[in-house]
Amino acid sequence: MNFHVITLFPEVCKAYTDASVLGRAQRTDKGKGAKVRGKKISIEYYDPREFATGNHKKVDDKPYGGGPGMVMAAEPVLKAWNKAVGRKTKALKEKKVKTLIMSPRGKVFDQKMAKDLAKKYDHVVLISGRYEGIDHRVNKALNAQEVSVGGYVLTGGELPALSIIDAVSREIPGVLGTFESLEDKRVTNGESYTRPEEIVFKNKKYKVPQVLLDGNHAEIEKWRSEEK
Ligand code: SAH
Repeated sequence: MNFHVITLFPEVCKAYTDASVLGRAQRTDKGKGAKVRGKKISIEYYDPREFATGNHKKVDDKPYGGGPGMVMAAEPVLKAWNKAVGRKTKALKEKKVKTLIMSPRGKVFDQKMAKDLAKKYDHVVLISGRYEGIDHRVNKALNAQEVSVGGYVLTGGELPALSIIDAVSREIPGVLGTFESLEDKRVTNGESYTRPEEIVFKNKKYKVPQVLLDGNHAEIEKWRSEEK
């Protein structure tokens, strides 16, 4: 899977996607036992500022018709999209490219969308807005889908784009380690514990549930399914 993120703040996003599971999934690693893990995902960043023209490389302007704030201009975003996937003729023809625009008014992202994106596409372009949003002609020109991460408004589309990349990547075979993927198949069991067996906080003791310490696997599974 190839992710392409169009954002005015690539460094902010990169710091997140280079760490931990997503970082590992982008590398060819020699895992345990000299097993070579291939790359599972790629994440490229495109800054509309690099595609802006004029002395000031302006990427925003006042909204037509008046109103507060600034709007991200269409052309630098469209040029960034062209750089990202514009020449992927085969993938475009085969409808393997999906373009998402982060928007608080979009369809609310969920696990099913994450699974679908992971399965159906080779390239996912995520466009992050800032200010009052992006010139709406981008939506039309790219036949893009507006996606929201929930019923609240953020200052930018970076966190939504990262959330989507994270959730979609987990659905790609090999991204999670063997143990983690096993966990993934399980319905989330809200409670987990690790050492030590007992902690003290504000003079009160907190213990790990006894069933987990006893080591009776049948009992543990029963407890876990009751916990769900
Ligand atoms: N007044 C604008 C708000 C823009 S918020 C409007 O009504 O659209 C600035 C940018 O943050 C948006 O362009 C979008 O990319 C992103 N954003 C904010 N909240 C979001 C959410 N819940 N889901 C996805 N993107 C969001």
